[in-house]
Amino acid sequence: MKISQIYNKGKTVFGVEAFPPKKGMATEKIYAALEEIASIKPDYISVTCGAGGSDSGGGTPTIEVSSLIKNKCKIETVAHLTCVASTKTEVEQTLSALKAHNIENILALRGDINPDIPRKNDFTYASDLAAFIIKQGGFEVSAACYPEGHSEAENKNADLKNLKKKVDAGCQTLISQVFFDNAFFYDFAEKSRLIGIEVPISAGIIAVTSKKQIERMVSMCGASLPPKFAKMIAKYESRPEALRDAGIAYATEQIIDLIANNVEGIHFYAMNSPYVARKIYDNIKGLL
Ligand code: FAD
Repeated sequence: MKISQIYNKGKTVFGVEAFPPKKGMATEKIYAALEEIASIKPDYISVTCGAGGSDSGGGTPTIEVSSLIKNKCKIETVAHLTCVASTKTEVEQTLSALKAHNIENILALRGDINPDIPRKNDFTYASDLAAFIIKQGGFEVSAACYPEGHSEAENKNADLKNLKKKVDAGCQTLISQVFFDNAFFYDFAEKSRLIGIEVPISAGIIAVTSKKQIERMVSMCGASLPPKFAKMIAKYESRPEALRDAGIAYATEQIIDLIANNVEGIHFYAMNSPYVARKIYDNIKGLL
């Protein structure tokens, strides 16, 4: 099923983001965790690829995990695909493999610029990749968006105009970067509508479970930390279980507020934790 059809059902879409095994990780353990997350029955599970530019895009692990979710767990899946280090031929090969596994939805991304991985020149922006995939046919394409602006953009307005190019290229849904202050999302969503972006936007939410995780997150995506959130981290940083519980409560509160404000979708960054995914889902399932 195409993701836009799930939005058309008229309820708040609840999607989960997962990542495939990375080098050195126990594949079976990750697969078991993903199957447990799938048992919650979210509307879709998206699968990252080489985050941080560590491979050339829709590598085999992404395809295998997307296939597991779609064909074994029977949950709709969105395969992430980056293009910064890929040629058109390589993307075509990935698209063929995705098609062979019956995968219909792709999140088209540029990917982060990684100085250790040479760029290839076939695609400059995610909008180029989106247009290319759509031209090949057979897939529905989503794109990433940034409520606080993308780190390389001149300013938020310039970033919004660039986002519009992705929608104009044919992206049918958007998934947002993580944020901890809903005000950023509301402002971004309102401005998006004003410039003619009409496709559904899912709000990216994470439940912080460790201080290390939050430090990594802030350095990677630059999300601002509201005082209430920073105080929570400071108070519980040395008590992992208390921090995990507080992180789940904070994310739950964000989601309730978003749903009350008619957000079209929640994209939950579960970090492959079935425990956290289930807790969050149980807290909000009656509201979707
Ligand atoms: P683009 O849309 O190409 O934007 C990149 C920059 O270029 C922005 O500053 C934008 O304003 C600017 N820009 C865009 N188009 C134009 C234009 N036509 N002219 C001038 N400027 C332009 N990374 C991974 O490696 N793997 C993943 O699986 C992954 N999943 C993600 C999932 C989500 C929901 C999000 C929000 C991000 C994800 N990322 C992932 C991170 C993403 O790859 C980085 O944020 C990357 O730096 C930008 O990717 P993009 O697709 O948004 O790029």
